[in-house]
Amino acid sequence: MKKAREDTLKIAIYPGSFDPITYGHLDVLERAATLFDRVIVAMAANSGKEPSLFTLKERHEMILEAISNLHNVEVMDAMGLMVDFAKEHDAIALIRGLRAISDFEYEFQMALMNRKLHPRVITVFLMPHDSYTYLNSTIVREVASFGGDISQFVPPGVAVRLTEKFSKSKG
Ligand code: ADP
Repeated sequence: MKKAREDTLKIAIYPGSFDPITYGHLDVLERAATLFDRVIVAMAANSGKEPSLFTLKERHEMILEAISNLHNVEVMDAMGLMVDFAKEHDAIALIRGLRAISDFEYEFQMALMNRKLHPRVITVFLMPHDSYTYLNSTIVREVASFGGDISQFVPPGVAVRLTEKFSKSKG
């Protein structure tokens, strides 16, 4: 009986580097959590965006804290192709956030490539609330590095860690 239920669960993967997780990521995640039975945040260990500011462990911890109120969301470290990771976890969809036209070209290419690799895994694009369309982790890191107020962009736990990170690097 349980098996039959699991077979029908709609599982989605939300991949990214989350260095660190922001309210933009969380907005997308909340929307995905209403559409799917289970959402796995797949933290890319090999995102190509290295070196990252936070270690995998730190990023993992910050995501865990941030998703504590989302009961059908979990986080895993992921290596390799996201479509392979999706298949491995019986996911039917890859979630991507679309902020602006600047995201489109890359996301479009990646979605079509992933479709070629695994036609049954569907890429789903979700748009955040318009107040987050300008937000990305790089800008947040930059503002934090100059001591700017980042409390409206990231959860409190992330803000604390960013402040610590940059006060250590200065001290
Ligand atoms: P970034 O460094 O661009 O913030 P990630 O690799 O962590 O990115 O992003 C993972 C996914 O989350 C991507 O699909 C990205 O487009 C999306 N994303 C990131 N920030 C936002 C945001 N503010 N609004 C919507 N989607 C976002």
